Amino acid sequence: MARARGQVRGDPNIQGEEIGRINGRGACGVESAVRIKSVADVRMIPQPTVGCRTASALWPWVVNGAKPAVGSAGGGIASMGVVSHYADRNWNSAASGWLFEHAFGRAIDIAGIKLKSGREITVLRGWNTAGDGARLRKMWRAACGLFGTVLGPEANRFHADHFHFDTARYRSGSYCR
Ligand SMILES: [Zn+2]
Repeated sequence: MARARGQVRGDPNIQGEEIGRINGRGACGVESAVRIKSVADVRMIPQPTVGCRTASALWPWVVNGAKPAVGSAGGGIASMGVVSHYADRNWNSAASGWLFEHAFGRAIDIAGIKLKSGREITVLRGWNTAGDGARLRKMWRAACGLFGTVLGPEANRFHADHFHFDTARYRSGSYCR
């Protein structure tokens, strides 16, 4: 019952709360914002506030990307470490691009995952290790196509410690680096 009550946009696989429109400064803000508690039983910590399109893209990524990438290691994924989601800040220095997408709730940054065993796999420490590096690369690769922009440690120094996913659309298709 709790599961049915907490579902977002009629999808029991996305648990959270519908917030509606968030009016931000200037042109910023989020249409149809949702605060996400969990996606396919993976808890999101802290709970990110994103637009519904970004929320919807998270589900196939968690189910078809993140979970298979981790498999049964440590009992599977318990939670995701979220470092940035919607932010009504002065992104003036970033008139376009990946920072800009955060101001419209179209982006989410993920720093790592926690396994059911309690072990943490972080982008910062795991990317260049053998086992976890392969898991993280699979997770990163699986996001490409689901999200319009997918950035990780190879993109630039700003992404050494997290993945950036956003649903901005580019005419040329997804941008993944
Ligand atoms: Zn980001």
